[in-house]
Amino acid sequence: MLEKSSDVVIIGGGVTGCSIAYQLAKQQVRVVVLERTRFAAGASGATAGVISPLWHVDPEVEPMWRLGMRSLELFPSLASELCEAGVDPEFRQTGVFKLAFTDEEADELRRNLVRQNELGFGVAWLDQAEVLQREPEVSTAVLGGIFSPKEGYVRGQRLVDSLVQAASRLGAQFHQGVEVLNLRTEGKRITGVVTSWGNIDAPQVVLAAGPWSGLPARWLRQQGAPEIPVRPVKGERILLRKPGFLPRSPVRNSEAYVVPRMDGDVLVAATRLEGRFDEVVTAGGVSHLIAAAALSFPGLSDAEFVSGRAGVRPATPDRMPILGPAPDVEGLSIAAGHDAVGIMLSPATAELMAQYLLDGNAAPLEPFSLSRF
Ligand SMILES: Cc1cc2nc3c(=O)[nH]c(=O)nc-3n(C[C@H](O)[C@H](O)[C@H](O)COP(=O)(O)OP(=O)(O)OC[C@H]3O[C@@H](n4cnc5c(N)ncnc54)[C@H](O)[C@@H]3O)c2cc1C
Repeated sequence: MLEKSSDVVIIGGGVTGCSIAYQLAKQQVRVVVLERTRFAAGASGATAGVISPLWHVDPEVEPMWRLGMRSLELFPSLASELCEAGVDPEFRQTGVFKLAFTDEEADELRRNLVRQNELGFGVAWLDQAEVLQREPEVSTAVLGGIFSPKEGYVRGQRLVDSLVQAASRLGAQFHQGVEVLNLRTEGKRITGVVTSWGNIDAPQVVLAAGPWSGLPARWLRQQGAPEIPVRPVKGERILLRKPGFLPRSPVRNSEAYVVPRMDGDVLVAATRLEGRFDEVVTAGGVSHLIAAAALSFPGLSDAEFVSGRAGVRPATPDRMPILGPAPDVEGLSIAAGHDAVGIMLSPATAELMAQYLLDGNAAPLEPFSLSRF
């Protein structure tokens, strides 16, 4: 049974929507999350889950950098709260490795070292022997690498499951298999949503529908809603299994990440295909990922192939998410467009969005506002 009304309705049961719901539930806000398929069915479940601002966010893009660093700071306490609520999101602060196999790659890694340490990462260049001491299965073709000790990884599906569990305990309502078909308005004010299961009244609606977040702008065309420039970027990842083999931490080369999982599988990610909504795992994608993984770990060439999965990243023109109110539509806000870093940025995104929904002050979200486009 769907609720008849709520303070906030969130469209989308990926990591973004579920994280915001959890933060709101902690503040005793009545919140309903509507997911048309299954929680984490999209990119949030297909993700590699690497938490690494160092290699994913440009420190010169200050708002993104702050969001990344705040998330990194929040992850350990969030993970222990979620564990206490019953589901381990499998966050591990193992550090993250980036390897160099050519002189150019080594020069580039070394060049960035000083700046990265100014930013407080405590990173260091490790030569071949030191790399192999830490990760003995790495190819002896490696020249060296940089180890960033404060970063790590989380398992996307488990993170979403743990958020749903923890927020439900605090009174949030979650529904799978319920599609939002339209928004309800009075003049330029949101009054609720129309779903495949009936209507819900709500003064606040949050659009966290990942790459599908552009659609409501079309529903609200008559109200003059602006376009939401979120586009799809498909990504594939695979799982491999080799008894006795598991890297200690995520290991990156120029082509791919190799990420350990608690269940003993090895995740390899990711391909990047612009403009694609399909979730087909292709032969080309799989062979590219296996070759890229074997560059770091030759022993993975004869690992068992377990499975492949694809997800669709939500991208924006400037690779920053869109966070905050939708101009001209009172009560509608957006949290979408995190592209390749939505898992990493989820704690700080949720913190900012929940605060905005509570106090209506959009100033902290200004760098991410839709009106920048
Ligand atoms: C292969 C791959 C590897 C990645 N690796 C990393 C990584 O290492 N680190 C990192 O930080 N990020 C990574 N990412 C990116 C990250 O996974 C995404 O940025 C993040 O999951 C986006 O989450 P989201 O909740 O915004 O969107 P989604 O996960 O897409 O969730 C949106 C949800 O909205 C639902 N929905 C849409 N329309 C409606 C509607 N009308 N009604 C109801 N529900 C609706 C969808 O079904 C979907 O479940 C990776 C992504 C991929 C694909």
